[in-house]
Amino acid sequence: MRYISTRGEASELTFEEATLAGLARDGGLYVPKSWPTLDKQNIQDLSHLSYADVAVKVLAPFVAGSLSTDELAEFCKSAYATFDTPDVAPLRQIGSNDWVLELFHGPTLAFKDVAMQFLARLIDQLLARRGKRVTIVGATSGDTGAAAVKAFAGLPSVDVFMLHPKGRVSDVQRCQMTTVLDRNIHNIAVEGTFDDCQTIVKKLFQDLEFRDQYALSGVNSINWARVVAQAVYYFTAATALGGPQQAVAFSVPTGNFGDIYAGYIARQMGLPLARLMIATNVNDILVRTLESGRYELHKVMATQSPSMDIQIASNFERLLFDVLDRDPDRIRGLMSDLSSKGRFELDTDALERIRALFAAGRCSEEQTRATIKTVYRESKYIVDPHTAVGINVARDLRNRGDIDDTIPLVSLSTAHPAKFPDAIEQAIGVRPALPDHMSDLLEREERCAVLPNDAGEVARFVASQATAAGANA
Ligand SMILES: *Cc1c(COP(=O)(O)O)cnc(C)c1O
Repeated sequence: MRYISTRGEASELTFEEATLAGLARDGGLYVPKSWPTLDKQNIQDLSHLSYADVAVKVLAPFVAGSLSTDELAEFCKSAYATFDTPDVAPLRQIGSNDWVLELFHGPTLAFKDVAMQFLARLIDQLLARRGKRVTIVGATSGDTGAAAVKAFAGLPSVDVFMLHPKGRVSDVQRCQMTTVLDRNIHNIAVEGTFDDCQTIVKKLFQDLEFRDQYALSGVNSINWARVVAQAVYYFTAATALGGPQQAVAFSVPTGNFGDIYAGYIARQMGLPLARLMIATNVNDILVRTLESGRYELHKVMATQSPSMDIQIASNFERLLFDVLDRDPDRIRGLMSDLSSKGRFELDTDALERIRALFAAGRCSEEQTRATIKTVYRESKYIVDPHTAVGINVARDLRNRGDIDDTIPLVSLSTAHPAKFPDAIEQAIGVRPALPDHMSDLLEREERCAVLPNDAGEVARFVASQATAAGANA
């Protein structure tokens, strides 16, 4: 499979190259040159397979030419063996034709593990092949950093420098990062905000000499390998609920449009979907876009579902590329409007194409609390605030008749409630406990550098600890 950039000016790459590149050099995102498909019988047959085996069937056409099926099978098997249940992504019923897909059974209790466990093994292997090392530098508000630190710990080809805002991530999120003591993992608490951390990371990447010397690389959610790995659980969930004969609807708590775009990948591959519901908190740029056709940046507000407190839904560009007939000139036009005016407009045709598959809804802070409460009262089941946003929007759209009662409705549960204990306690007066195997997390030894909000200081720290420069020379 070959990959092309949504902006049309970067060269075509293999899967291997696209994985290591992340963002395309023209600022675009890589997408497959054509959509591989599975026929009805192929999809039907998935229902008898383990999660790791479904992953092999779904991912094989995307990695063709870069990985052998045996290599792919090995990565999938070892990545998903780190989950605390053999199902990996179990379904749980919370109402009539109303389901939750639990994606939080990985090592750091959020769905980011599903892709990151796969990506880390993949990147390490691709680098070993080339005899290269990279230095991964990233900023996190919590979940992505925890998943990355855990997944890359101890891998020989990679050093990870993960910046988080000091005192502004939850205790659980901090300890998931700082108690990983492997020598290739470097946590940095920056005396500043998440935005400050991101600004520092951007500055390091913009210093091209530094970037090349230390072979800087990123693992944010625009990486194609990360997004495609998430398409797998749409297949396992749908086939468990009667697919492909029965079309299934999914509600997805959305920030950067990565997780829900993975559902679109599954649809493009041939999985019948009744609806993909974009569920946002009050940071609702995508809901407004589906309502009005205008994609317009507003100020970010802090909510109980912080992993969705995002302005720019980067992966949306991948969907736009398809609805604009894969015309990179039109994408470049929209993106230049976005950077010059803070907004762009979609024409009616593009908007109708999006609405044919996607619906969207927002959930207020009050509704998030109310949903946590209602689900707990109805099912004695505790959902995290991100999951609550998805359930609220799903039920609302069903009540409005957007999808009928005969269609199985699956809400993606993106985090374990113990990751956000304060919000849960506020809603139902119960403080959810961590799973047994990490009940001592907050007492474990921590290692973390504290640095001022200063790109120069961070650069000096990276230079003093990174091993890539010598190794690649
Ligand atoms: C990252 C995250 C999301 C949002 O996922 P996107 O792929 O950015 O849309 C939702 N919930 C949780 C718990 C997350 O960590």
